Amino acid sequence: MSFVSRSGRGLPLLTAAVLGLLAGDAFAARISRLTPPSELFASGEESPVIARFLPGQRFDLQMTIEPDPGRTIVSFDFIVDDQSTLRPFWVDGELIHDPRATLTSTITETGPAATCIAASGRTTGASGCTLVAGLAGNATVISRRAYSNSRAGVHTLRAIARQDDGTTITATGNFEIVGIDAESGQVAKNIVIFLGDGMGAAHRTAARIVSRGYAQGKAKGLLAMDTFPNTGMVMTASLNSIVTDSAPGMQNYVTGNKANNNEEGVWPDDTRDAFDNPRYEYLSEYLHNLQGKSLGVVTTADVFDATPASMAIHTSARGNGTGIVDQFFDDRDQSGLAVLLGGGRKWFLPNPSDSTSPQPVNGSQRRKSNDYVLGDDIVNGWGVARGALDPERDLIAEFRDAGFRYAADKSGLDAAFNAGTPDKLLGLFSYSNMNVAYDKIAGRRGDTAVVDAFGFPDQPMLDEMTDAALKVLSKNPNGFVALIEGASIDKQAHLMDTDRWTLEVIELDRAIAVAKRFAERNPDTLVLVTADHECSGAAIIGAATVSAATLEADPDAGKGVVGIYEAARFPKYTMAEDGYPETTHVDGKMLIGYGANADRYETWLPSRFPTRDTQQPFPPSQSPANPSVRNEGAGYLVTGQVPGDQAAHTATDIPLSAYGRGAHHFNGVFDNTDVFFKIGQIAVGGAD
Ligand SMILES: [Zn+2]
Repeated sequence: MSFVSRSGRGLPLLTAAVLGLLAGDAFAARISRLTPPSELFASGEESPVIARFLPGQRFDLQMTIEPDPGRTIVSFDFIVDDQSTLRPFWVDGELIHDPRATLTSTITETGPAATCIAASGRTTGASGCTLVAGLAGNATVISRRAYSNSRAGVHTLRAIARQDDGTTITATGNFEIVGIDAESGQVAKNIVIFLGDGMGAAHRTAARIVSRGYAQGKAKGLLAMDTFPNTGMVMTASLNSIVTDSAPGMQNYVTGNKANNNEEGVWPDDTRDAFDNPRYEYLSEYLHNLQGKSLGVVTTADVFDATPASMAIHTSARGNGTGIVDQFFDDRDQSGLAVLLGGGRKWFLPNPSDSTSPQPVNGSQRRKSNDYVLGDDIVNGWGVARGALDPERDLIAEFRDAGFRYAADKSGLDAAFNAGTPDKLLGLFSYSNMNVAYDKIAGRRGDTAVVDAFGFPDQPMLDEMTDAALKVLSKNPNGFVALIEGASIDKQAHLMDTDRWTLEVIELDRAIAVAKRFAERNPDTLVLVTADHECSGAAIIGAATVSAATLEADPDAGKGVVGIYEAARFPKYTMAEDGYPETTHVDGKMLIGYGANADRYETWLPSRFPTRDTQQPFPPSQSPANPSVRNEGAGYLVTGQVPGDQAAHTATDIPLSAYGRGAHHFNGVFDNTDVFFKIGQIAVGGAD
């Protein structure tokens, strides 16, 4: 928010009018937000903390101007290194940036109370012109869409706006283009990212204890992810908090930039529209554009959920399911989307009445209120679909018409390969989040009560989905980017359902083994295993000192049965042929404490039904409403320190393990945004 450059470079000429305002006018016109975010703009510090991009990676420039009372903005520019970004700019014959829209620095239209102006000189559309509360009525938001720069190094960004009285308002920020070393060996053609949502070190250890067992103080075997040769620790903070949610937790890895909590593929702005925020390009979009790679998204969650959406979707509202799934489809030519597998059918089924009350019988939760229409500046600048408010849309039919084979269940997923491996694949195996491994495996073993109650008795396991996805994606000779998410490690850790999240980690690890075998056959593949953040502050506190039968007989026993230190010994589970424990209800079972916990009644017993998932259009009545009532009247009360009735995410660093081409780049302690630039180097420049 500087009128005066603190760095001494890019110093704007100060007009007499501006100096007059600086001399004491409390309502001095100012640029109150400059995007990309920079510490130079925010605090004046030329800090190493800076927005970074790969060469040619597109991103939006945006300023919010609060003019003097009664004044309007008549012209503007975004200046990078003393060059206007509103005109094409060459250095030594190289096109440094290329405006993809018709640009003019003259404002030709303004909105009613507040003004949102695209750099194309047009308003960003009715919905985009509503500013957040607290800004001056004549505040103006100006965007320069889809800018890119291919010159490595730190660049100064100066925003300039001129009022109708001639006053010039400026602000200075900066950003960095991270160069790619083109001389460093062979590239990774395929990038596979396993994201164990909420999976901290404790979750990994717990899955190892249960599935491999310990004896004489040593693990009797390793998880597939334990066998990866390189492991680092990742800092997971978002743009606005040390504690991230899953949206920035994922998108930071695949954009190189920090998002605010609940936002994906965008920076915060001052308009209310959740789909008009300043964007930046995803890894999928960048590598599809540059190399023709495909994108695969595989999750056990609803496919609109924060992690899968954070591979390709641009919105500041992670809950806007209708718009999110529409954008997956409508902008598939941007991302290269070829595989989409998970839950979330409720967003793909038509809802012509735009109603969710009563719940449509087909389960649809499509709504106008969480859909979008984009303004001209985004459509023209980025070359993306405009969108429409269309709850009546039959998106499964549209995917099919576009060449995707569709699978509704495990049998359908198998059948999709009967006539050969499809080129594109859509699988929607439940209305919202899929059932967890604990309940899917119970169903396969003959206890179908839970999967029947959800209405989806034939759901695939994540390793089966991974196998199908890799077969389809590997048909592209240019390679692919794949996200494979074990989503309910997080969801069940929030619910403090130890038995369920432990099996979720085992399910994820079985999928990792599938990808590791793929990478052994295809050495031009990089496989990463990580998490977006830790969830629940899970800690392996010990093991029960009593038998399973005793726990059942006395579910109020509580603290008295928690064996710590040597009393924990080595919990023993028996693994079945299907790769999962015969039961988690064993004598001397492993016990988990939660450091970010809400109140719960603890019995240390498995819960017959999963705790309520509010995303389900038809949640089964047998599910307990939340952890605080789950065992009420049976267990002992463990009081938590966080508000609400679920455990929360934590800011603890999480492990990242790497296998394959370029894996050695992932040692040490690094930021989640660093992962993007490591991948960029390995996929584009190569890894020595
Ligand atoms: Zn979570």
